[in-house]
Amino acid sequence: MSSESHQLRIFFFPFMAPGHMIPMIDLAKLFATRGCKSTLIATPHDEPTVWKSIAKTKDSGFDIDVVTVTLPLKEVGLPEDSGSLSKITTMEMRKPFMRAIRMLDRQLELLIEKLIPDCLISDIFFPWTIEVAAKFGIPRLVFHGTSAFSMAGSECVRLYEPHKKVSCDSEPFAIPNFPGEITLTRMQLQDFVREENEFTKFHNEVKESEKRSYGVVMNSFHELEPAYADHYRTFLGRRSWFVGPLSLCNKETKDKAHRGNRASIDQHECLKWLDSKQPNSVIYVCFGSMTNFNAAQLHELAVGLEASGQRFIWVVKKDPNVEEGKEEWLPDGYESRIRNKGLIIRGWAPQVRILDHEAIGGFVTHCGWNSILEAVTAGVPMVTWPVAAEQFYNEKLVTRVLKIGIDVGVKQWVVSFGGSVKSEKVEEAVKRVLVGEEAGEMRRRARALAEMAGGAVEEGGSSWSDLGALIQELKSHRLARTKKI
Ligand code: UDP
Repeated sequence: MSSESHQLRIFFFPFMAPGHMIPMIDLAKLFATRGCKSTLIATPHDEPTVWKSIAKTKDSGFDIDVVTVTLPLKEVGLPEDSGSLSKITTMEMRKPFMRAIRMLDRQLELLIEKLIPDCLISDIFFPWTIEVAAKFGIPRLVFHGTSAFSMAGSECVRLYEPHKKVSCDSEPFAIPNFPGEITLTRMQLQDFVREENEFTKFHNEVKESEKRSYGVVMNSFHELEPAYADHYRTFLGRRSWFVGPLSLCNKETKDKAHRGNRASIDQHECLKWLDSKQPNSVIYVCFGSMTNFNAAQLHELAVGLEASGQRFIWVVKKDPNVEEGKEEWLPDGYESRIRNKGLIIRGWAPQVRILDHEAIGGFVTHCGWNSILEAVTAGVPMVTWPVAAEQFYNEKLVTRVLKIGIDVGVKQWVVSFGGSVKSEKVEEAVKRVLVGEEAGEMRRRARALAEMAGGAVEEGGSSWSDLGALIQELKSHRLARTKKI
């Protein structure tokens, strides 16, 4: 068999956090269904979740498997069970966690030596993998499951530093050399961008390695953000392939249900509850896998949701130290009062299945990119409540460019836990996104985007074609390499 037609073997190396792992697993599944051999690299902590997520694809005869690397947690002074970012509960733990990841280079080399992949697709937070791949002469592609809008926007801020030219933290500035007159304030930027700290160096390293890599695989689709996809490619010069929305590779109920952690609620119970509600009448509230609000903020949310008079599903991170029903943020008698109106899920929700349900009319989201794309593919408008990471950029895309959401009015980037949104704001935003003319308009636009998303991943669609082009290019690259050898 010629090297051109021979099956392409690809390593997928995700960062150990649900928001990074879930789309990377979907990406590996997608490549496998297009004839590649996909190998996911996971820690023993994540391995069972990864196997569960790929089981259906593997059983269908596609070539996909998992290999493990072990984080040297003890060596960096972290507890043995902290093999995932969700276990890194304090800022002090983050630095050693990243150091432990950095120490995986030798294990990665051994895996490449043994299994001889043709390409490595690794998380944006693993800039050092570019050197490992180079050692073996294979291309490294970056995967960062976020929008082209935020990738390009944050790079323009890093390069042109508009935030250093305003007089105070709350003065808006326009992102220079960026389409659409998009404004932000210094308060909405990541702390390490606002002021240099220990993460600034790492952030610069990440960005430089993105530039030097073979290219970037994007969990987005061209029709969603054409101006920003083009800007990222042409103005910033990043070779990139738009292959999303990745969640759409899960066509069957079982696949959707097995994404990420085990759900904390019987899915049938949850869907039965939704079945009994009118179309577009329920708001879904979830802040992703990492955000942990403090009790005061949870209390405001609880009050606001009840005051809105709307039906809701609210996902609250379970605090293992607090007994159910004894949570201090819960107003007195809350759950019995809202019995028919609201459903509180403590822990992990089957998000994609919930968003896809016709009863869901809106989504209060922290603007994690996976959540936004999942809402887009379900045609659901949003209330944007950004917290950290690149979420303020994503908010602007949703509210200013796509116009499929309204902001709840968060002004300040915080690492986690925080929040200062009052119940009245919650009440107002929830009503606005669910009822009235404005809500109808947003829903219409969201539905049109959902149609486009479906079209993009179908045979002949933009994402389908981009992925095909990438596979073809990687095959040619291998051919050229083997000829050289
Ligand atoms: N998710 C889920 N159930 C939950 C919380 C999150 O299925 O209870 C999934 C969600 O569907 C998404 C991912 O976890 O795919 C969260 O990623 P996102 O980028 O939205 O936010 P992050 O967790 O990275 O902040």
